[in-house]
Amino acid sequence: MRILVIDTLTDSRKSLVEILNSIDHFEVTQAGSAQEVYDLLGIGKDTVAQIPLDLIVLDMELSPPGGLAACRIIKESNHLKDIPIIILIGDQGVDSLASAFAFGAIDYVRKPVEKMDLLTRVHSGLRLKEEIDIRKAREQELLEVTKKLASANQILRRMAFLDGLTGIANRRFFDEIFQKEWRRAARSQSTIALILIDIDFFKLFNDIYGHQAGDECLKQVAKTLEASLKRPGDHAIRYGGEEFAVILAEETNLEGTLKVAENLRINVATLEIPHLGNPAHGHVTISVGVALVQPEDGTLPQSLVMHADKALYEAKHQGRNRVIVAAD
Ligand code: GH3
Ligand code: MG
Ligand code: MG
Repeated sequence: MRILVIDTLTDSRKSLVEILNSIDHFEVTQAGSAQEVYDLLGIGKDTVAQIPLDLIVLDMELSPPGGLAACRIIKESNHLKDIPIIILIGDQGVDSLASAFAFGAIDYVRKPVEKMDLLTRVHSGLRLKEEIDIRKAREQELLEVTKKLASANQILRRMAFLDGLTGIANRRFFDEIFQKEWRRAARSQSTIALILIDIDFFKLFNDIYGHQAGDECLKQVAKTLEASLKRPGDHAIRYGGEEFAVILAEETNLEGTLKVAENLRINVATLEIPHLGNPAHGHVTISVGVALVQPEDGTLPQSLVMHADKALYEAKHQGRNRVIVAAD
């Protein structure tokens, strides 16, 4: 336990140090003036020279600026404010007792100092410091745990929005982002485009090549769709099974949307994943339905999904491996 004794008078300082040194585990430092204290404790300096301290014993009759001023300045220093201060007062010092406590002193000892009196106060001051240290360590621990929790939470949240198989965004993400982009488009009176994609003859793919190969195919298609998008407002999502959705929040016209959709179709076809169950092509292809709208009051986001879905159905009906735009 490290104690700083602050007293102007050499003799009384010496006897204080003697009393404190009678206890083995006390490490006592002394200072004879306020300036000496400030230098020792790094008060008012750019670099804080922190000597580790557990308790301060401070004589109120310190040479000017006096013990009261020193007490205030120590307590106002951020790095020292938790160090308990016990003040020593003579008969004249009683008046400043209230001020010293207001500045943060925790206890006092009357002069002339009695050994047992000083030691009991010092012991309880040190116990208080110990409790403060434990509390601070707990707070620090709590802070670190809270930080870790927050980052784990963030990871979990991100994972909750990802499809386990393909690694692209999942249906839950679609539900959130679609509503959000819909409202944004409504507010800014801009358009929102939805592209629905379905792999052709995928049941047959599984039947011919096995479910595992089917999974690999889904991964490749998902990766290709995602890699085909360029802008931050473009989102590729596994909508469910072998169906995917692409939201274009920044697309303002049908022509651009069609270009993106056609690009998706070509990029998947270009993978040339062999598929004997796809009679016209011999490799995996997709059918694509496109719908674009400027949301107005009263129209529901679900209506856009319905239109894109109808267009997709039409693409299947017309022979698959094509892009069809919703009727109106
Ligand atoms: P269409 O061209 O009309 O779309 O025919 P299709 O065979 O692709 O359509 P259908 O809806 O009949 O079959 C979809 C298949 O997708 C059936 C299902 O087993 C398969 N599927 C859905 N999810 C997964 C998956 O996670 N992994 C694998 N391997 N297959 C899946
Ligand atoms: Mg399907
Ligand atoms: Mg299909």
